[in-house]
Amino acid sequence: MSIRTLDDLLAEGVPGRRVLVRADLNVPLDKQTGEIADDGRIRAVLPTLGALTEAGAKVVVCSHLGRPKGSPDPQFSLGPVAGRLGELLGASVHFATDTVGESARDTVAGLADGEVALLENLRFNKGETSKDDTERGAFADQLAAFGDAYVDDAFGAVHRKHASVYDVPARLPHVAGRLVLREVEVLSTLTGNPERPYVVVLGGSKVSDKLAVIEALLPTVDRLLIGGGMCFTFLKAQGHEVGSSLLEKDMVETCRNLLERSEGKIMLPVDVVAADAFAPDAAHDVVPADGIPSHRVGLDIGPETVAGFAAALRTGTRTIFWNGPMGVFEMPAFAAGTRGVAEAIAGSEAFSVVGGGDSAAAVRALGLDEKAFGHISTGGGASLEYLEGKTLPGIAALEN
Ligand code: ADP
Ligand code: MG
Repeated sequence: MSIRTLDDLLAEGVPGRRVLVRADLNVPLDKQTGEIADDGRIRAVLPTLGALTEAGAKVVVCSHLGRPKGSPDPQFSLGPVAGRLGELLGASVHFATDTVGESARDTVAGLADGEVALLENLRFNKGETSKDDTERGAFADQLAAFGDAYVDDAFGAVHRKHASVYDVPARLPHVAGRLVLREVEVLSTLTGNPERPYVVVLGGSKVSDKLAVIEALLPTVDRLLIGGGMCFTFLKAQGHEVGSSLLEKDMVETCRNLLERSEGKIMLPVDVVAADAFAPDAAHDVVPADGIPSHRVGLDIGPETVAGFAAALRTGTRTIFWNGPMGVFEMPAFAAGTRGVAEAIAGSEAFSVVGGGDSAAAVRALGLDEKAFGHISTGGGASLEYLEGKTLPGIAALEN
């Protein structure tokens, strides 16, 4: 891979230079309080930021948060993230209240060597995600004006053709940060020649997001365990009733086809935790996966399924990739499946990779030891697209 790295940039010398760092500070926020629910993504970029400040660079950090619609929206402000980033860095972070406007210009101009600025949410600007090259380019020009060099450390965003990851590197000397480099190193071992047996566990909410990766992985994996909201479309494809569980009707046929071609590699739940409603305090019990009552909703995999999945993960497995929670783990009543599978992965001797924002958050929310996993990826969509073998715009932009 012909990508220049942060070490190359540091070797050139950065004192006094403004270095624009695209980070992925898109942390999950508590739906009630708006507080940062998990700061894993902030911590993941600290090695890159620390190396730059220590070397005396003027560090200008930019990121998106959530999905604002191209204009300022206070609920998606990066303000709280600036506070947490400062605490974790042990240095104050100068926060600009706009992305490329007057506040940003003043903040960047006022930076001393070794100091850090954070710009307001990139997606408060239409140009960031625009499909129009000119509109994106114009925004990229404004961003690029804040840096003498560019570091991409936003692995969670490299699969997006957005101004800050795709167009800015075309305008500035560019390198990959520590996090992006590590992610690519790890994921390339999975696409290259993973040690076998290789077991993949998929969950989460949307099947349609994950069909392509299932398709790509089927020839390579020995076992594919499917739980989470996506399992119901597969159960439906087997002819089972799924009640009011998550179902993507237009994907049933595709799932049936995948099951037919999977040579028995795909393992589905045999029991599920079915609830009266999608609510933390809903009445619930364990029912067989082949007969979910019509008025009930499956919110977790059942204990027998957990035991079966755990057994499949244990038996001599050498490599594991896990993406997507097994149930609605945010509600304690429906977290047991995710916990059971996560514990089985943590306890396995295999080299394990966890991909996906919510999966990584689940590992920490359930109090599991992060060190028990080989690698916890900060990128959900990005890690999946990498495993699909797609060209990631943000990585391609660094290669040029
Ligand atoms: P990741 O971010 O790790 O890639 P996803 O975003 O695909 O994972 O999915 C995570 C979400 O899936 C979680 O918020 C979780 O509550 C939800 N989920 C898991 N199981 C179910 C289910 N049975 N019904 C509805 N939602 C579910
Ligand atoms: Mg997610």
